[in-house]
Amino acid sequence: TDLSLIRNFSIVAHIDHGKSTLADRLIQSTGTVADRDMKAQLLDSMDIERERGITIKANTVRIDYPARDGKTYVLNLIDTPGHVDFAYEVSRSMRAVEGSLLVVDASQGVEAQTLANVYQALDAGHEIVPVLNKIDLPAADPDRVKANIEDVIGLDASDAIPISAKTGLGIPDVLEAIVTRLPAPKGDRDAPLKAMLVDSWYDPYLGVVVMIRVMDGVIRKGDQIKMMQTGARYGIDRLAVLTPKMTDIAELGPGEIGVFTASIKQVRDTRVGDTITHERKPCAEALPGFKPAQPVVFCGLFPVDAADFESLRDAIEKLALNDASFSYEMETSAALGFGFRCGFLGLLHLEVVRERLEREFDLDLITTAPSVVYHLHMKDGSVIDLHNPADMPDVTYIDHIEEPRIKATIMVPDEYLGDILKLCQDRRGIQLNLTYAGNRAMVEYDLPLNEVVFDFYDRLKSVTKGYASFDYHLTGYREDNLVKMSILVNAEPVDALSMLVHRDRAEARGRMMCEKLKELIPRHMFQIPIQAAIGAKVIARETISAMRKDVTAKCYGGDATRKRKLLDKQKEGKKRMRQFGKVEIPQTAFISALKMD
Ligand code: GDP
Ligand code: MG
Repeated sequence: TDLSLIRNFSIVAHIDHGKSTLADRLIQSTGTVADRDMKAQLLDSMDIERERGITIKANTVRIDYPARDGKTYVLNLIDTPGHVDFAYEVSRSMRAVEGSLLVVDASQGVEAQTLANVYQALDAGHEIVPVLNKIDLPAADPDRVKANIEDVIGLDASDAIPISAKTGLGIPDVLEAIVTRLPAPKGDRDAPLKAMLVDSWYDPYLGVVVMIRVMDGVIRKGDQIKMMQTGARYGIDRLAVLTPKMTDIAELGPGEIGVFTASIKQVRDTRVGDTITHERKPCAEALPGFKPAQPVVFCGLFPVDAADFESLRDAIEKLALNDASFSYEMETSAALGFGFRCGFLGLLHLEVVRERLEREFDLDLITTAPSVVYHLHMKDGSVIDLHNPADMPDVTYIDHIEEPRIKATIMVPDEYLGDILKLCQDRRGIQLNLTYAGNRAMVEYDLPLNEVVFDFYDRLKSVTKGYASFDYHLTGYREDNLVKMSILVNAEPVDALSMLVHRDRAEARGRMMCEKLKELIPRHMFQIPIQAAIGAKVIARETISAMRKDVTAKCYGGDATRKRKLLDKQKEGKKRMRQFGKVEIPQTAFISALKMD
């Protein structure tokens, strides 16, 4: 294809502002997908994405568009995830395109993730076309939101395109703006092949599928290629474009985006950001690579039923085939038996993985407290990365502990500002900045990541009735007064509940955990003490009193079916319980006990 007839772009938006719906309309209005095959959010292929309405993996589609100038253009749309956890995927797919549509909900305005995503687009050198979506809504105020975009982002919004992705209003203007306002890609067809590995995923039928953006040269089916970073060599089996189904193509030239298969065994054999070139006539230098994504949140995953361990291993290995950002290693817990310690890009990522394991592989899992990675500076000068509070060495060997900090950006209507400041203050936050745009406040905080990983986002949403938006990035490590708190149930430490906490907050936290566990653990035939301790020092204590009667006692002589029902219900409950010494703890206790309110 002639370079001047290609436009590559992505869509950036805050979650729910209509990115996927707009992508659907662009695909549909150009006849790329026949109406009968059209379903909502076509590019969001995973079940969980559809249900939660979020986009997890970046996806791409090639659209043929006959423009008003009489020429037919090839438009390559790369859809990117909107959530903070997947910022890394956003940044890499941005490098494969030249422009972005910035979608802002005209009834809402700029939100925290709008900012984070648009900055990524600007970093990648994109030309940006602002689009005001949802103008069909009575609450839409395009003029206010235009001013808001100029105020907060500093981007000229005078030519912003008003649309409704829902009704289709304004879609032709968006297509035309892509052609007239976004730049064509550049590249040299006669130069040696230089292509960027944008993404790769595992397809059960095709094996590993690799998505590339060609910078220079031409790639054809049958070519012998080399990945410059890993040094791996492959023959191209199949070359295709996504429309969005895989459609074979003879070659891909400069500026084009497509996929290939090449009998690659696992996704881990491909490295996003790697440069692909011809084995025989390689290009002189590689493209600047990407840093691999680092997991920042860790937790243990254990089967509720120990007999499911092998199934869990199998499921985790299958999932990892398709998600190179997820790490795992075997873990044994005194309390929970065999399981895995897994690393994630963030909490949403953790939840998505856990849900997929439970749903797609039909497993019942216990998730232990999410933990961040601490740096333990030992007295002998060495530094240990602590992923699991249960592995904490004897404190007498530790000189000091550092924890990861983040810079959080929160946007909120000013009536909720007080609640937000209180929440951040309670989580050991340090306020960095506070500005206003209209009646919305934008506040920046320096916070410890460990105060955010568990339920910060939920709390933020609930104290602001859903009106706050939030984004964060890691800024570095800082020393603080951190201690390991253990929880003992019936005098036995439950390693899955141990955590690192700030010394000043340990008592309050310990008391809360004990109170929660008291409610969550059912009564037994004997009395159960629940204690929180730092080392040998007990800092909080509760007691579950002994049960007086058999639960079925009151049914004696009564209705037999009622009694059976009660027993069945107990058995059902048992499935989700784990035995700790003499005490049974319900699975839900592990998560609920850690929620702070
Ligand atoms: P994304 O998270 O940015 O991908 O947003 P979606 O495309 O999933 O849209 C979020 C919600 O807004 C969905 O319920 C859509 O149906 C709705 N929506 C999207 N565009 C419009 C629009 O133009 N008008 C109205 N009224 N609703 C819209
Ligand atoms: Mg979406």
